[in-house]
Amino acid sequence: MKLTVVGGGYVGLTTGVCFAHLGHEVMVVEKIPQKVELLKAGKSPIYEPGLEELMQESLRAGRLSFTTDLKEGLEFSDVIFICVGTPQRPDGSADLSQVEEVARETAKLMTSYKLLIEKSTVPVNTHQLIKKTVQRYIKSPDIPYDVASNPEFLREGSAIEDFLKPDRIVVGVESERAKKIFEDLYKDFNCPIIFTDPATAELIKHASNSFLAMKISFMNMVADLCEKTGADIKLVADGMGYDKRIGREFLNAGIGYGGSCFPKDVKAFIRIAQDYGLDFGLLKEVDRINQERPIRFVEKVKSIFWSVKDKKLAVWGLAFKPNTDDIREAPSIKIVDMLLREGAKLSLYDPKAMENFKLLFPEGKGISYAKDPYSAVENAEALLILTEWEEFKKADLKRVKSLMALPIIVDGRNVYEPSEVRALGFEYYPVGR
Ligand code: NAD
Repeated sequence: MKLTVVGGGYVGLTTGVCFAHLGHEVMVVEKIPQKVELLKAGKSPIYEPGLEELMQESLRAGRLSFTTDLKEGLEFSDVIFICVGTPQRPDGSADLSQVEEVARETAKLMTSYKLLIEKSTVPVNTHQLIKKTVQRYIKSPDIPYDVASNPEFLREGSAIEDFLKPDRIVVGVESERAKKIFEDLYKDFNCPIIFTDPATAELIKHASNSFLAMKISFMNMVADLCEKTGADIKLVADGMGYDKRIGREFLNAGIGYGGSCFPKDVKAFIRIAQDYGLDFGLLKEVDRINQERPIRFVEKVKSIFWSVKDKKLAVWGLAFKPNTDDIREAPSIKIVDMLLREGAKLSLYDPKAMENFKLLFPEGKGISYAKDPYSAVENAEALLILTEWEEFKKADLKRVKSLMALPIIVDGRNVYEPSEVRALGFEYYPVGR
């Protein structure tokens, strides 16, 4: 099929590249010209494992193209995936101005049937607003169109795999014509395809993300209880996780969830409920617990040292999760900021996210960036682990200890087995163990 993807970020680029990999002809419309230049040259503006290779393969095969011009994208195909950002507004609600712009501009430019698909995460009933906008700006009331919801569930760091082998595909449609397009598009996917109305599909996405965030906050509170009582959160999670009704995933305690989805989607879901006269107090607690995690972590570091002023601290991990360069809403931002305010001297290292982090925290004023994990810990009085990269799991801890001024590890992600690290002579502070 011929497909157009509007928005060349984490979701849009993955969507475009994966559909092209599956043999479709795809045009990605991205409004930032510098990004399009990079993409045309076969370079990904973001780090996502396997993405650049797959993109180059489809570029070479002539199945993938990029443009800044929406008109060109609309002339290219009838199936339009909207993958633009829906960031958080100060009041917690979703800023839908990018989606509105795409709907409005598409309406002005389209001359024949288009299927407009929401892949961005949007509040329930956004499809109604898209339809209203298209009706208002369309050149002629005779031009047919459909609006559908096909939310994306991929995770950064494993986006390609998640896209190509999803647990399920959710499609909210209102017409047989639109349904048929999706049936053709997804016919080779080996997973349940759930057809619903658009409102239900929109709600499934927010409800899923909020539920996963709830699991994390729940476990983080249990981890606090473990620290007070001497219980071990890892074993508690294992013991709970074998129960099929609970499942082991998303039961890891740590310094809280981050990224461009969970924090904003939980807040948006609270707002959506509020807009319909409902108080989703449960999710307010989920959000509150999560916001406190970085504060608790810094308190822990402070309690170890009495004062962190002028202490040289190494930080491993800045990305909000492993295998990505994304630092949006990463707990590391709050933690680094708080430690700097306390007067600590920080030596930071992350395998992929340092360039993005430098934009927020430039070198100087208590911050330096290290070229590898070992130079980061040289003469450090403690090592703080904020992202569970594989590289850190495999690190040579004997070497780390020999380089540090004091053998102290404060692990916000439970990367190591406490008994093993302590046997090496470290003072080790994990979460909830
Ligand atoms: P992003 O910020 O990485 O990408 C959005 C892109 O859209 C940007 O490159 C921006 O320049 C471009 N854009 C904005 N307006 C445009 C326009 N009018 N025309 C062309 N391009 C335009 O965002 P993302 O992380 O890809 O997320 C996109 C949506 O998908 C959000 O709603 C998000 O909540 C949702 N989502 C994200 C993930 C994730 O893991 N990142 C997963 C599932 C769903």
